[in-house]
Amino acid sequence: MSATAPKFTELGLSEPLLKAVGDQGYDTPSPIQAQAIPAVISGKDVMAAAQTGTGKTAGFTLPLLQRLSSQKGVKVGANNVRALVLTPTRELAAQVSDSIATYGKYLNLHSTVVFGGVKINPQMMRLRQGVDVLVATPGRLLDLYNQNAVKFSQLEVLILDEADRMLDMGFIRDIKKIIALLPAKRQNLLFSATFSADIRALAKGLVHKPLEISVNPENSTADKVTQWLTAVDKKRKPAVLTHLIKENNWQQVLVFTKTKHGANKLTRHLEAEGLTAAAIHGNKSQGARTKALAAFKEGLVQVLVATDIAARGIDIDLLPNVVNFDLPNVPEDYVHRIGRTARAGNTGHAVSLVCADELNQLWDIEHVIQQHIERKVLEKFIPVNELGESRAIRPLKAKKPKKPKKAKTEKVEHKDGQHLNKGHKSQSKKPEATKSNTSKSSEKSGKARRSKSYANKKKQTNNSSSSSPAKR
Ligand code: AMP
Repeated sequence: MSATAPKFTELGLSEPLLKAVGDQGYDTPSPIQAQAIPAVISGKDVMAAAQTGTGKTAGFTLPLLQRLSSQKGVKVGANNVRALVLTPTRELAAQVSDSIATYGKYLNLHSTVVFGGVKINPQMMRLRQGVDVLVATPGRLLDLYNQNAVKFSQLEVLILDEADRMLDMGFIRDIKKIIALLPAKRQNLLFSATFSADIRALAKGLVHKPLEISVNPENSTADKVTQWLTAVDKKRKPAVLTHLIKENNWQQVLVFTKTKHGANKLTRHLEAEGLTAAAIHGNKSQGARTKALAAFKEGLVQVLVATDIAARGIDIDLLPNVVNFDLPNVPEDYVHRIGRTARAGNTGHAVSLVCADELNQLWDIEHVIQQHIERKVLEKFIPVNELGESRAIRPLKAKKPKKPKKAKTEKVEHKDGQHLNKGHKSQSKKPEATKSNTSKSSEKSGKARRSKSYANKKKQTNNSSSSSPAKR
């Protein structure tokens, strides 16, 4: 951190919030926090290009709680909400909700989270009392609205988190429907890993004279991630992965596969090789996913094999290794995947196992990240089917804002987390229900590794106990 970096105490946050931040062991705001917090407190609309790992969640949560708590005597009516945070997935919704509970623990505000795939009745019951902050995925929020379980007449702030992902998942119509239900006078915050033309088009009808913040160049991969790939025959990928894990003694590896079936098969292979592994994907029950993630965070499981949607928003302290067992069809997913490592100032490795028929995906990824990924040869695994050359990097086209497309992504239905992926080959995905997975045990391992500065930051696990006043 430079000597001029502000301190949390200089950003206009109240004592209860500073105390909660202090409890997390953070003393220096991340760049996005330093910019976003004062702007949001001043009531400005904000448009921020920030990937997960930049501290963006606290970047909007802290000033939001500041704003809501500074207005004394506001009573939230039955079924009303004062602030709405929309997220693309259940996983992220639960994680944001945990952050609100963590940072709001010394405030007398109430928040709750709603998403699909679980019973709606308990959510309706909680909303009956009114909440200060509602975190929601779009489909379930509309269901609740249609059943008169939620009202927006008291709404003051709208936050779209990971807006790019919401558009990828085909939520644009739902988002527009929701925006149309909100009072015109409100503060709007839009967070997105990338500012695509579609995001800019969405922003046009949403934010008013926004402060634009960008903490990462568009679509750039996190600076501190060492990326490389190795060309490999498809059928030898499991053996290559096992070799890499054993050879390098990797203790914590997040592996991405394209399909749920692939994730299961690979997990079985790794287990047969004597490694501890678990899979998380949409066909796994919520309980199984929570358990697998907790065991991984705690170090009881060495390899977590995940599909893209299941892994979305996973926040793991000091995750050192990410492996792309399959390249993603959507090149931006590569950026999201490798954003799982080198979070908040730490370093990490992202390795891709690329077979000959993934060359198109590789070209697209290298175009999006505007760089060639270093190729390493593994002597023992030289492929029979050679991987073609990378192409020269063409500059990204200047993006003209264009009209939002009409449900271009072939959304199958409303349920959160269920969508048809877009990309070269459209590929249908099943729901990827998930919930935040903070565990007491991960708190333990977090503590051991925590340090105080942002650069060396370590996150103390969210203190999201249900008794927290900011959570009902
Ligand atoms: P996010 O980008 O919101 O997903 O946050 C990434 C990680 O950084 C989370 O583990 C946060 O708890 C952590 N974090 C957020 N703000 C800070 C900070 N100022 N200093 C250190 N770590 C932070």
